[in-house]
Amino acid sequence: MIRFDGVSKQYPDGTTAVDDLSLEAPTGQITVLVGPSGCGKTTTLRMVNRMIEPTSGAISLDDQDTGSMDPAQLRRGMGYVIQAAGLFPHRTVIDNIGTVPRLLGWDRPRTQTRSMELLERVGLDSSYAHRYPSQLSGGQQQRVGVARALAADPPVMLMDEPFSAVDPVVREQLQDLILELQADLGKTVLFVTHDIDEAIKLGDQVAVLRVGGHLAQVADPAYLLSHPFDDFVADFVGRDRGYRALGFVAAPDLPVYKEITVDLGSSAEHAKAATTDAWLLVVDSERHPLGWVEPARLTSAIERGSLARGGTVARSNGPLRNLLDAALSSPSRRGVVVDASGALRGTVRGHEVLTAIEQSERPPEIDEVVA
Ligand code: ADP
Repeated sequence: MIRFDGVSKQYPDGTTAVDDLSLEAPTGQITVLVGPSGCGKTTTLRMVNRMIEPTSGAISLDDQDTGSMDPAQLRRGMGYVIQAAGLFPHRTVIDNIGTVPRLLGWDRPRTQTRSMELLERVGLDSSYAHRYPSQLSGGQQQRVGVARALAADPPVMLMDEPFSAVDPVVREQLQDLILELQADLGKTVLFVTHDIDEAIKLGDQVAVLRVGGHLAQVADPAYLLSHPFDDFVADFVGRDRGYRALGFVAAPDLPVYKEITVDLGSSAEHAKAATTDAWLLVVDSERHPLGWVEPARLTSAIERGSLARGGTVARSNGPLRNLLDAALSSPSRRGVVVDASGALRGTVRGHEVLTAIEQSERPPEIDEVVA
């Protein structure tokens, strides 16, 4: 566990970047520090590995005061990932990943083996090993940055806006990578972002900071969305918080209705005969839903190009948010539900999802830590 006890940081010019911060980042969990630009997130993170020294207060790691530890040794136990990866430009990918093992004196074969294993672990095949960072996309560089931070298997990971510089699609993929790795590795992660959606997706615990380095609220994401402590937190978590909070509410057993389907490649006549409904669901040979068609508009066979693809797909045991979104985004207004293998189970009706929402409980009150 990383513990901040009344930690403050004043820069020499008089700026108070962090003000009397007390916070615990539990072992094996992701704690996200989130807040607007300039609220002291980076300063807080860098005090943990002593790149910045606090003006007052103490930071401890598993009850050991970091102020009394050798900074170089402290840092070797902490993976550090920053925006735009910060890779060494003149070193190959594999040499970048092996940076810390080499510092720790591992021999060459062991460093190589470990680096190749991590390359694969972060989703890059071995053909990338001997490229230079400039020969990779931003997202690939960031994967290498994560691999480098994990190389010596440090118990702590410090991540400072690691995904801010990549586009939204790649960003989601990198977030998913972090969640997959974390499920296996269980690191103690301190993650800095200004993006509340990222905080809510990744955090077991989310700490909201306000400018001046004050902790405004710390809670798990569901609680933060449903019980913002004050106007600042309510504004910061945003207008869609009611909808986003549904992402943490498991769906009850809703009725799932049988849906008439047609196969991709079947004829227009076949589709028209199947139903009088305006919309028909198209599936592939494994019954994976592909999209909707309007049979009345078809002239020949059902092809991928003739499908309306607006609809999202939900898992029947997933969160209520996904079920509601499936219904709202479907052109037929029937929300498509699939099983764990992605095969069609049937459809749900929006009004029944709404009834389930009305009957769902808000997260219970907890003793939250508020500074
Ligand atoms: P965040 O990461 O939330 O954007 P920072 O920790 O970078 O915030 O900065 C917090 C405050 O401290 C800001 O007002 C910033 O301008 C100020 N600050 C950061 N670094 C320095 C520095 N080296 N000297 C003076 N002020 C600084």
